Amino acid sequence: MSYTIASDIHTHTLYSRHAYSTIAENIAAARAAGLEVLGSADHFSCMTYPGHDLRNYQFFLNQHAWPRTWDGVTLLRGAEADIVGLSGELFGQDVAANVTIVGNAYRDDRTLYDRVTEGLDYVVASVHNSAFTRDASLAQTTAMYVGALEQRKVLVLGHTGRSGVPFDMDEVLLRAKELGKLIELNDHSLEVDARGRFHGACSAIAERCAELGVQVSVSSDAHLAMYIGRYPHIEQMLEEIHFPEELIANRSRVALLDAMAAAGVCDMHELNNEEA
Ligand SMILES: [Zn+2]
Ligand SMILES: [Zn+2]
Repeated sequence: MSYTIASDIHTHTLYSRHAYSTIAENIAAARAAGLEVLGSADHFSCMTYPGHDLRNYQFFLNQHAWPRTWDGVTLLRGAEADIVGLSGELFGQDVAANVTIVGNAYRDDRTLYDRVTEGLDYVVASVHNSAFTRDASLAQTTAMYVGALEQRKVLVLGHTGRSGVPFDMDEVLLRAKELGKLIELNDHSLEVDARGRFHGACSAIAERCAELGVQVSVSSDAHLAMYIGRYPHIEQMLEEIHFPEELIANRSRVALLDAMAAAGVCDMHELNNEEA
């Protein structure tokens, strides 16, 4: 069987510093690939800028400037936030951000994470630097992924098959199912290591999602516009394991927005009001 996957919600722009396309180029690529939805999820991570100055994160703060529909493509505002602690803490949650981008004091006390994600539709939570998990038990790393899933704005656990952190698969997948949240099947993970060390882990996660009835998000994790909406490695894997299409939450715009609302991450009605 072949799959139609009309939304790609894990993509990067050149803001991420090791990616190379603008949001306009990504929209054009999404349109050319026949996508209904493009989700932009740049790194919110120590990877991008040293220090925690809010001025480095203006890219996220001003995304309300983006049209909701651009050349016929629904554009979602997201971030890929690093998981940085064993309770599922995300980058910026332990950082006070009390100075505005023009250097004035904010009247309220809020964290960098809260200010950056306030206007975003969703967060992809991923481990990039796993050093903090090195001495952790399986129970602790499992609690880490569960804790990340339980964060309100987190819609997707990113590339768990590539991050290299072992965890109790059933516990994490069943919690995702309870919350209506998504486990990512990331094409970039297989592209960088096709049939290598990540394939077995990614395939095992996909197979267990199918068995347990857990929704997934198939993503390109494109760092260049030409890869937007392309998931050849994941599609081949899904075909091999006869993955049920109805568990792919991003198969269509309607299915994705329903899943986001059901998970309590972002309600479609709010999107419609903003568009009006
Ligand atoms: Zn990246
Ligand atoms: Zn990414």
